Amino acid sequence: MRPIQKSRKLADVCYDIRGPVLEKARQMEEDGHKIIKLNIGNLAAFGFDAPDEIVQDMIRNMGNASGYTDSKGLFAPRKAVMHYTQQKNIAGVTIDDIYLGNGASELIVMSMNALLNTGDEVLVPAPDYPLWTAAVSLSGGTPVHYVCDEQSEWMPDIEDIRKKITPNTRAIVVINPNNPTGALYSVELLKEIVELARRHQLVVFADEIYDKVLYDGNTHTSMASLADDVLFITLNGLSKNYRSCGYRAGWMVVSGEKRHAKDYIEGLNMLASMRLCANAPGQFAIQTALGGYQSIDDLVGPGGRLLRQRDLAHKLLTEIPGVTCVKPKSALYMFPRLDPKMYPIHDDQQFAYDLLAEERVLIVQGTGFNCPATDHFRVVFLPNTDDLTEAVGRIARFLDGYRRR
Ligand code: PLP
Repeated sequence: MRPIQKSRKLADVCYDIRGPVLEKARQMEEDGHKIIKLNIGNLAAFGFDAPDEIVQDMIRNMGNASGYTDSKGLFAPRKAVMHYTQQKNIAGVTIDDIYLGNGASELIVMSMNALLNTGDEVLVPAPDYPLWTAAVSLSGGTPVHYVCDEQSEWMPDIEDIRKKITPNTRAIVVINPNNPTGALYSVELLKEIVELARRHQLVVFADEIYDKVLYDGNTHTSMASLADDVLFITLNGLSKNYRSCGYRAGWMVVSGEKRHAKDYIEGLNMLASMRLCANAPGQFAIQTALGGYQSIDDLVGPGGRLLRQRDLAHKLLTEIPGVTCVKPKSALYMFPRLDPKMYPIHDDQQFAYDLLAEERVLIVQGTGFNCPATDHFRVVFLPNTDDLTEAVGRIARFLDGYRRR
């Protein structure tokens, strides 16, 4: 029989966060092993429950949520998103500029599919949240990675961005706050990126899904608040700020230089109608979340559980010989580096696999985030302090053995 093969469109598409190492973990769990999972930013799985008011409102609204909605979404949640853009000083956003989606993920793929032709280039950070690279490739575009510099607290390297702009560059992706590094960008740096976008007529994709997960009194500036003569597509949602990733509730806001983007917006509208609409219960959740006071503030502020876990994980990891790590200012992740002289890792997927097999700790290897070198890995600091201490202890033991191999 003729083998049934995946499409050639997928040849360059990679999404290792849920790749082969996770598959191995699943098998091990089926065989009865208990695994400490430091691999996915799924808050609910670690006892960070969705705010009760959001859950109760969703249950109440369930009876009204069985029909299709407008393909961009229901009026009231889009209005709530509009008010949110006003709080973030993004000018000129109307209801029409707001699209609700099944998580930001759906909208990321949609926004790239509507924009790109074969050969179009999109600047994507390295390391990145790999859905961005995958979405560019799936849409026929070419991801061109710009360096985020570990020596400068993982800030995007403006010179590197400048060097990589070509006549084919259509857009730049900025993930701020950042997954996987936990970096938070200064307004000055964001302005420099906006200036490049202005000069080279690039669309700016601003992924701001962690914009309330901020430590140490830091504040977040929406990139789209910095200019009205550049086209911005801002992505956000309930998954992280409101601990509701299972509700698949995200949004996308088109702002700035919309007059010259009519054709692109037509494309977005067409793709939004082709998927009919986002799930309606999730849309109701957006309306409650953005109208209320149940954000993540008490978890990230002084004494908060996430703050304590960040501090502990950072301390324990950086106590391991040969491990360095920029302390995250935001989000749920750390991206430690292993000194290549002490730990000569040639295949970091194999490294993650071996750590899982020997110590039953699940991490994601750095190359899974389009990091060019094999000397990084990502951990989430969501497990409670006992589990974090146990997990980092096991990583230390594994590394000790690795050095002696
Ligand atoms: N963007 C970033 C940077 C993320 O880390 C994630 C999920 O981890 C997403 C987007 C996708 O979020 P959603 O659950 O809204 O699809």
